[in-house]
Amino acid sequence: MREKVHVLDVPFDTVTLQQATEIAKGFLKEQKQHIICTPNPEIVMEAQKDEELMNIVKAADLVVPDGIGIVWASKYSEKKLTERVAGYDLVQKLLEEIENTEHTVYFFGGAPGVSLAAAKKMQQKYPNLKIVGGHNGYFDEKEEKHILNDIKKLSPSILLVGLGAPKQEKWIYHNIRLTNVKIAIGVGGSFDVMSGKTKRAPAIFCKLGLEWFYRLITQPTRLGRMMRLPKFVLAVLRNKKKK
Ligand code: UDP
Repeated sequence: MREKVHVLDVPFDTVTLQQATEIAKGFLKEQKQHIICTPNPEIVMEAQKDEELMNIVKAADLVVPDGIGIVWASKYSEKKLTERVAGYDLVQKLLEEIENTEHTVYFFGGAPGVSLAAAKKMQQKYPNLKIVGGHNGYFDEKEEKHILNDIKKLSPSILLVGLGAPKQEKWIYHNIRLTNVKIAIGVGGSFDVMSGKTKRAPAIFCKLGLEWFYRLITQPTRLGRMMRLPKFVLAVLRNKKKK
């Protein structure tokens, strides 16, 4: 059993990026299907009022803290999380790990053209990576069936789902059993970053724990969503008092 740390009820695995990568590699060897969640403070706040999302995160096989805010909040929990494990970094590590194996990956999500552009960029970065397919994340019911059939037919080992939270977590939860994938991960806006459409914060921002600030100044449309951050801090502090 892995050790868990609860932040506002969301159970995070106390793992480093390297450990998370090893665990995910282990998932690839098993018959069972696995879901990996990478909640940031916004998703933790969303889960406070969305019971379905909370239950999905609680049932996930690996939950990593995608945000320095989560690591900060863990100091009020039973045990402290060691480091931030960004979903983006975990996916990069996994792609690197499977590059020279028989394992395959499918890119599902993002605006039309983005998953394809992301796939092309990742193919350049990892020349032996087996990307078996992809589809954008804007679909109607009929198209959704077609996407599911595609995933079923191509049978990727890893399914990256970038539909934004909580849509991607719910999609994965309801559909993973209809596929043969070994691992499904909700990757948020990762295809935008992989494709070069949006840029990840420079290393110095990440090191100082200010990636959220970089995102805010470069994508001011996120302001509304980011207002959840102070609410997250307040909720954590309030919860600490209750204990
Ligand atoms: N997206 C999608 N289908 C939708 C809604 C969103 O494919 O119906 C994609 C969107 O194009 C973007 C990603 O989901 O690539 C969400 O990115 P965001 O940065 O908002 O996600 P976060 O990483 O913050 O969860």
